[in-house]
Amino acid sequence: MPSGSFGARLMEQIDELASLVERARVIAGFTGAGISTESGVPDFRSPDSPWRRHQPIPFEAFLSSPEARREAWRRKFAMDDIYRDARPSRGHLAIASLINSGKMPAIITQNIDGLQQEAGVPAAKVIELHGNGTYAACLSCRARQELAWIREVFEVTGDPPACPVCGGILKSATISFGQAMPEEAMRRAQELTLACDLFLAIGTSLVVYPAAAFPLIAKQNGGTLVIINREPTDLDAFADLVVRGEIGPVLAPFIGRRD
Ligand code: NAD
Repeated sequence: MPSGSFGARLMEQIDELASLVERARVIAGFTGAGISTESGVPDFRSPDSPWRRHQPIPFEAFLSSPEARREAWRRKFAMDDIYRDARPSRGHLAIASLINSGKMPAIITQNIDGLQQEAGVPAAKVIELHGNGTYAACLSCRARQELAWIREVFEVTGDPPACPVCGGILKSATISFGQAMPEEAMRRAQELTLACDLFLAIGTSLVVYPAAAFPLIAKQNGGTLVIINREPTDLDAFADLVVRGEIGPVLAPFIGRRD
């Protein structure tokens, strides 16, 4: 925790956050890659991010080109090796406590790492806007497939296998550039955003749309908007409270609480 006047300011912000949480009726949580950096998963926009080493492979290229699919799977397995040992952060555990307290009906996340579920939040209460990278799905029949056997086949043959159910193309269950957003997740995120009186945006640069629209929708609907991030974001000017600090120490006091 920083010391001196900056530390004092941060403590005030944390106290204000605690009283907003205490007074809130319905809290919407909205997380980005920043909640997982303490877990060892690099975020997207911080310097030297491994996620930006390559140009993204657009969905259309993935569909039309076997080589693009091979490259996507090569990258996927290389990234998986980077954060294979990642465990939930204090931020994930604090969100789990807020959900268990009943005040936060669900967490909306842009993350694909599955760490919020690992922190004990039932999958049904994690609204994943950009999908989930811990498994794969068939683009035709939607059947879920596990990554381990896909990797085994890929490493032996140099090609990803076809869907064992229908022969369709298998893809990590994430949303690529150019791929349609998941309708059900978007609908649920919108509903929670409109139902909440407190919206907590945590660890997101708030530049990826349409996801980044939710904090503004909450604010326009009369909700209180809090942004917790170590760096400024484009939406700070709209927030009722900006907590400029590390998510771990800021949210740690909420772990185990039942406000
Ligand atoms: P981003 O990288 O654009 O922004 C993350 C923000 O969190 C940054 O502003 C950074 O300063 C801040 N941050 C990082 N660690 C922090 C910490 N410990 N405490 C406080 N602030 C911290 O991430 P985004 O807005 O989520 O957008 C990136 C996109 O890339 C998302 O759509 C997401 O799907 C994807 N992505 C996901 C993961 C993941 O699942 N963990 C990781 C990288 C990228």
